[in-house]
Amino acid sequence: MNPTITVLVYSSIAAASAALGAIPFRWRDRIPISWIGWANALAAGLMLGTAYVIVVAGLNRMVLAGATGAFLGIGFIYWTHMIARTEDLDLNKLDETGPEYGYQILLVQSLHSASEGVAIGVAMSLNIGLGIFAAIAFAIHNVPEATVLCAVLRARGIRLRDAAGLAVMTNVSLILLAIVTFALIAAVPSLLPWALGFAMGALVYLVMVEPLPESYQQAGHTSIALVTSVAMGIVVLLNGFLR
Ligand SMILES: [Zn+2]
Repeated sequence: MNPTITVLVYSSIAAASAALGAIPFRWRDRIPISWIGWANALAAGLMLGTAYVIVVAGLNRMVLAGATGAFLGIGFIYWTHMIARTEDLDLNKLDETGPEYGYQILLVQSLHSASEGVAIGVAMSLNIGLGIFAAIAFAIHNVPEATVLCAVLRARGIRLRDAAGLAVMTNVSLILLAIVTFALIAAVPSLLPWALGFAMGALVYLVMVEPLPESYQQAGHTSIALVTSVAMGIVVLLNGFLR
């Protein structure tokens, strides 16, 4: 398959899988708050594992440019949160939210997915097999992440089908950024360590600022730490077996 088509197909799979996050709501109107915590922890662990796997694959090319890229990635997330005034926003509020809250959540989620798109583009540039692995890991990660988003949207009275559609729409940025990153690195290979660092900085910072903070209150410190660590470990182990 043409490598750009491969990037398009697998990043589209990663985006579309967000629709599966709506499945628990077919049987229940609301899910227990502890499930939201665990969904956040699972999403966080899968994200950390994928970030680790990609950074290890590209570590020998990074050093200074990578570290500077990571600084830029963290700065990008910090800056976008600041501009959108979402830096300390509770992303899991199920009640007592103003009319702008739904838009803020969708904006935060779209920016979040954009960084994952950069990570997929970088992984595909390092090695197509690694890129496919990363895209599938993000596809699985998008399921619990979309469950949390659907819980918030459902609490705002949005129909399940529309909530699932919005969850997928917030991942269109993932597809776009995966393709743009892959094309840019193909055109200017010296961008690779910068983009690699950017993706790593953004992903690790995102995990700490978005899914994790609220999850500790939702499901307890120990279970969140365990679910996050085990999910991360499974991604790293699977990558080790498949290499
Ligand atoms: Zn995500």
